[in-house]
Amino acid sequence: MTKPFSIAIHGGAGTILPEQMSEALSTEIRHDLEKSVRAGHQILARGGDAVAAVVAAVKVLEDSPNFNAGRGSVLTHTEMVEMDASVMHGKNANAGAVAGVRHIRNPVELARDVMEHSPHVLLIGDGAEEFAFKHQYQYTEQDYFVTDRRYEQLQSMKEKGLFALSESKYPDDNKHGTVGAVAMDQHGNLAAATSTGGITNKQYGRVGDSAITGAGTFAENGNVAVSATGMGEYFIRKTVASEIAARMRYLKEDVHQACEAVIQGDLKAMGGEGGVIAIDGDGEIHFAMNSSGMYRASIDIDGTLTVKIYVDE
Ligand code: ASP
Repeated sequence: MTKPFSIAIHGGAGTILPEQMSEALSTEIRHDLEKSVRAGHQILARGGDAVAAVVAAVKVLEDSPNFNAGRGSVLTHTEMVEMDASVMHGKNANAGAVAGVRHIRNPVELARDVMEHSPHVLLIGDGAEEFAFKHQYQYTEQDYFVTDRRYEQLQSMKEKGLFALSESKYPDDNKHGTVGAVAMDQHGNLAAATSTGGITNKQYGRVGDSAITGAGTFAENGNVAVSATGMGEYFIRKTVASEIAARMRYLKEDVHQACEAVIQGDLKAMGGEGGVIAIDGDGEIHFAMNSSGMYRASIDIDGTLTVKIYVDE
């Protein structure tokens, strides 16, 4: 008999408002979100591992130019794409991550391979890429990642002298974000993965929470898997993903209470805009955000598909 399984994904949080979104773009984004969640769900339905599911789901969004990860990543001040990603398996607390990679088409796969084929957790820049090429990854030119939309967004932020979430409050920005997935497989394993180009106009070498285990990504079997999106500097300082796990572990809060307490509580008070997706040890899903929207989708343990963008949907 099939045991319960479920999956949730996000495509970034921030100032996402219906009046700033065309019908065509909204349809395209919802289509990408559904494709991503179905890719992961298919693996879980076949009895596959939670890590395989979250990596497959994230890869779909990295390949879409509509999100700030892989192709379509935002640009640094020096007009480069530098990507961060991480993966965690809840069974053995194994984790892998990469930061500041410039020529890897799917950073989430590299994060998984750091977890599975190296003794390390986090590899950065040239070292991460050297590891990739040793493992038969192809060198991908920067041109592949850069889109006109991201270039315009950078020029606008440069003029303002600001950094911005890809889902920024500036109306001349385009609103597409960091991506992530959480899943529970039929064996009861939890996993999480997150991938991003970071924030527009960041200094080169800046690393966000998406590469940091316990900040942007966390998974612990029997407890919770979390993937975050938002202004990384706050998520790192609040160790958001592990804080949610700790509240559930020690305070016995459920997944809904723990996520809301962190996202609407301390994080918001600090000025940290963003959200999380989470799945608990029973496959129960929660989406939390303190922003006007978060691209998100899920297929719950009953097989019900949900695809949403705005906070009040
Ligand atoms: N958390 C990402 C970072 O700070 C950005 C995002 O979620 O959009 O790098």
